[in-house]
Amino acid sequence: MSEILVLGAGMVGVSSALALQAQGHQVVLVDRHSSCRETSYGNAGVIQTEAAEPYALPRNLMTLFRYGCGFSNDVLWQPGALLRMKPALWRYFRHSAPAEHARISRIYSQLTSRAADDHAPLVAAAGAQSLISTDGLSEVYRQQSGFESAAKEAARFKEQYGISSRILDGATYREEEPALKQAPAGVIHWNESWSCRDPGALTDDYRALFLQRGGSYRQGDAQTLSQSAKGWRVEGESGPIEAEQVVIALGPWSPQLLRRFGYRIPMIYKRGYHGHFNAPLALKRPFLDADNGVVVASMAKGMRVTSGAALVALDSKTQPTQLERGAEALRSLVDLGERIDEPQWFGTRPCMPDMLPLVGAAPNHQGMWFNFGHGHQGFTLGPTTGQLLAEIMAGVDSEITRGLAPGTRL
Ligand SMILES: Cc1cc2nc3c(=O)[nH]c(=O)nc-3n(C[C@H](O)[C@H](O)[C@H](O)COP(=O)(O)OP(=O)(O)OC[C@H]3O[C@@H](n4cnc5c(N)ncnc54)[C@H](O)[C@@H]3O)c2cc1C
Repeated sequence: MSEILVLGAGMVGVSSALALQAQGHQVVLVDRHSSCRETSYGNAGVIQTEAAEPYALPRNLMTLFRYGCGFSNDVLWQPGALLRMKPALWRYFRHSAPAEHARISRIYSQLTSRAADDHAPLVAAAGAQSLISTDGLSEVYRQQSGFESAAKEAARFKEQYGISSRILDGATYREEEPALKQAPAGVIHWNESWSCRDPGALTDDYRALFLQRGGSYRQGDAQTLSQSAKGWRVEGESGPIEAEQVVIALGPWSPQLLRRFGYRIPMIYKRGYHGHFNAPLALKRPFLDADNGVVVASMAKGMRVTSGAALVALDSKTQPTQLERGAEALRSLVDLGERIDEPQWFGTRPCMPDMLPLVGAAPNHQGMWFNFGHGHQGFTLGPTTGQLLAEIMAGVDSEITRGLAPGTRL
């Protein structure tokens, strides 16, 4: 058993720390913050067992044209950022070809299908049951044509992946969701997905569980990582921290650190925003307003609206256009109430061109391991890839671990 530094205490880092600790390692978790604040804090909180297929880059010209012209609220982009991400986007485009996307989905669906089961023991041991609902996620369609094609997709998902859903006309759905002001065209209710009313609190509860089980947590700057006689060293706020092995779980900040070690990680940064509203009626379950590219969920702080993907640089200035547009459009469907005054949060989905997280040994450094690049579903997948990483570090080799391995993919 060895001493291991896990850098990053988002859902992925905390879950990795727990899984490695369960194998008997001595683990030190390091983050710059004292509590969860970044991507794992501000997301839509859905544990997406329905997300069997990762988001591909659309390849049909009409959709690309709509995105390009800014006609869709799903995606926004900045020309400079597109240029910088060009090599990664080109690879993303190629991996989005139907046959390749099907290959990737065969791996991805094996991750998402076990995600709730992997969260379950952690939720129970952390005593976090009150944060979780097992009542699913809905996709609300305002247009009949959109609903009909979504219903076909839901039937395909049932046949291909065994994922169950309820396909409901809008009037029927409205009877079970009184917060809706009007009946949409139709709804897909993915009834096996879970949701969390405070994703940051769940991540911190998992961290508390890790501490309770004997782990240690230190604030420090991961960017100070260097090789040392023992193995690896970072500067903590109260002095250096050393260990034999290191796990990089810094989500969207991972490539920045790894560049110093000679790795060029082709990441696509998809920013999203959230805002809270003091809605008078809580929602029964979160839903995606499919025509407006926003997810809305009743959470601890109020009704949280989260926006789609903005392809912008990691450090570009705040521009919550998609959130504002989406919230405005939502008002015809639910009474959002007033926006709660708070600093504007945003976070970045760390997306790999082949849509799979990078989990496994760093190709060129002994004792360095990767676990990042979880894109749109890192809150869902943290416990799953945490366990897989622990297995890989223990020498387990399987089709799935090979599929996620960095060595063959960078
Ligand atoms: C708007 C939005 C909605 C989303 N909705 C969902 C959803 O419903 N379901 C889902 O599954 N996923 C969702 N996601 C995606 C999900 O949130 C991410 O994939 C996931 O949170 C990534 O987790 P992580 O641990 O890799 O990264 P993070 O949570 O970002 O953690 C990285 C950690 O690294 C730390 N760090 C960075 N640099 C340093 C440094 N120099 N020194 C020390 N520490 C450092 C940060 O402080 C942070 O704690 C959403 C994302 C967004 C933006």
